[in-house]
Amino acid sequence: MSLEDVCLACGENGESLNHIFLHCPFARIVWFGTHLSYRTPSTDVNLLQWLNQCFMFNNREDHQLLAFMEVVLQVLWRCRNLRVMEGRKVDPYAAIKMIYSSWNLYSLSFANHSHITNHYYRPSPKQTSGQLFILCLIRESQ
Ligand SMILES: [Zn+2]
Repeated sequence: MSLEDVCLACGENGESLNHIFLHCPFARIVWFGTHLSYRTPSTDVNLLQWLNQCFMFNNREDHQLLAFMEVVLQVLWRCRNLRVMEGRKVDPYAAIKMIYSSWNLYSLSFANHSHITNHYYRPSPKQTSGQLFILCLIRESQ
């Protein structure tokens, strides 16, 4: 098993979380290819800074946006794991399909079960679920 620190999507050295989620050409295509059409920042901005900028620019209480961005991050991570652990190549357009498939399931399940409280997507007033998700990422990378 190779332990080289190389991104299998683009071949660049140094597969950091910032690279996987923001700076990799794969991630850039995916973020731009969603209905958000987000252009990810240059390499001097990290994931946390960028997410904060997104929520400063948009309505901070927009939980739909927050939930959708979490789906994008989860799919980018899933695609990275498919490359690393299963040696599979995932097309960015297939990743975008995965995002909308997950998003539709999420929307459908909450439309059918509106009485269910989702603690993950309904954060306390003091902490947004985006912050929780980022905390999980940071903990896992340590
Ligand atoms: Zn890459």
